[in-house]
Amino acid sequence: MGSIGPATILPAPLPVENATKSFWRTDPHELDEYRYHSVPRSCEVIIIGGGYAGIAAAYHLVAGLESVYDDEPIVDRNRPCVVLLEAREACSGATGRNGGHLRPSVYTRLPSLIEQYGLEAAVELCAFEDAHVPAIADIIHTEGIDCDFMLTRSFDIYTDREEAKKAKAAYDALKAAGVVKSTMDHLEWTDEEDAEKVSGVKGCVGCFTFPAAHLSPYKLFMDLLEVANNTGKLNIQTGTPALSIHENAINEPSGWTVETPRGNLHAKHVIVATNGYASHLLPEYVGKIVPCRGICSHITCPPGSAAPKMKMSYCLRLPNGSQDYLIPRQDGSIVVGGARSEFFHKREQWYNNPDDATLIEPAKHYFDNYMQTHFTGWEDSGAKVERLWTGVMGYTSDGLPSVGAVPDMENVWIAAGFEGHGMPVIWLTMNGIARMIKGAKFKESGIPRIYRTTRERLEEDRDDLAG
Ligand SMILES: Cc1cc2nc3c(=O)[nH]c(=O)nc-3n(C[C@H](O)[C@H](O)[C@H](O)COP(=O)(O)OP(=O)(O)OC[C@H]3O[C@@H](n4cnc5c(N)ncnc54)[C@H](O)[C@@H]3O)c2cc1C
Repeated sequence: MGSIGPATILPAPLPVENATKSFWRTDPHELDEYRYHSVPRSCEVIIIGGGYAGIAAAYHLVAGLESVYDDEPIVDRNRPCVVLLEAREACSGATGRNGGHLRPSVYTRLPSLIEQYGLEAAVELCAFEDAHVPAIADIIHTEGIDCDFMLTRSFDIYTDREEAKKAKAAYDALKAAGVVKSTMDHLEWTDEEDAEKVSGVKGCVGCFTFPAAHLSPYKLFMDLLEVANNTGKLNIQTGTPALSIHENAINEPSGWTVETPRGNLHAKHVIVATNGYASHLLPEYVGKIVPCRGICSHITCPPGSAAPKMKMSYCLRLPNGSQDYLIPRQDGSIVVGGARSEFFHKREQWYNNPDDATLIEPAKHYFDNYMQTHFTGWEDSGAKVERLWTGVMGYTSDGLPSVGAVPDMENVWIAAGFEGHGMPVIWLTMNGIARMIKGAKFKESGIPRIYRTTRERLEEDRDDLAG
């Protein structure tokens, strides 16, 4: 298959209908398809996209401790502060179909980040990701949310000796130089001698562990949506895609109009939190943020199974070339995704492919016998795939999210392109967006400088996704 470069990419379509059902979405929350009557005429902020980013924005704007609309009296929801537009159901995008892994892991990318952006920017990024585990733990505690949250340590498994040697050498060099001490000090390495025993993974020739967490993303973000909705300052409109964003005409109040099939809506600020679909509304992001598919599974064991109880989560760098991610659940089941070895070489299966209504055909059987094949003690567990689903991520041409004021569109904000790694990134990013709406400058927002969306990044001739 030849390369599909940005030149041939069109703006992303709207999300497709009849998406595959993920394990997380099998028990829908009461706000899943919620709509507050009709679309209101105007508000202060329109959030487009009802996933992690859109819901975190709503929470930070109307419900958080530093909420932007704290002083507003409880208002009529027909004249709300914030309107959230979601094309399908709430959390029906990547957020409701991910691996549930909250896993800050900048360290593998550190040497390249330092080389490209300098030490200060790389350290800033590490600290930002590391801050997400305590921040998410804190918000879960503050709001009393039951989302199966588990603090743990996570394994990075190496099965290739050369790769393991390189990773260990990079770690040793950074540690010896005293670089990014806070992150490096949390890492623990196990050599080949003990690697299989410590990790429980067959063929493991070295592994790191570091602090991480796992949870039900659907439960967490739906509950946070409910908290935001309960303030009375939010108006939720699911099943309502934004079709376009236009600057208001001179004879209209200043700001922006968002067109929907159910009427137009005016606001001073618009937040585009549509991840892989961002270029549908902002065509300047065509080829910069590309909808790309991933596949994930839920594996269960029969009652009385001899499967060992797992406590830690995993990223497995397997000999077949896959980099799979895996979390254990308290009921003994497993959520595992990845399977790149089966489809990454068939670009049309994932790249610029927004179809989460079908499975990735070549990867359909990848997770059969997964636990039996890769984990010691699981051979007679009877573990089997209970559910398979796909999801659409926003992959980016430079490997970084795009966050901040959209160039030349005052008060239109973007937070998108979180790839397969949004959990330890989005919460504080959206806090930063809320702060900027309140008047803070980007550098006061707490968002890593290299996430900032700029004209230069948009015009950069770089495409890490090029085939
Ligand atoms: C299979 C899979 C596994 C993953 N595993 C992990 C993991 O374990 N850990 C991790 O950190 N990250 C993981 N990720 C990535 C993570 O899920 C994402 O980075 C994160 O959920 C992105 O959140 P978001 O709100 O930006 O996007 P989304 O959750 O995709 O939300 C965007 C929303 O916008 C809506 N929308 C789109 N266009 C419009 C429009 N025009 N109008 C209105 N609404 C619109 C969509 O319907 C969608 O609900 C995974 C992703 C996938 C797909």
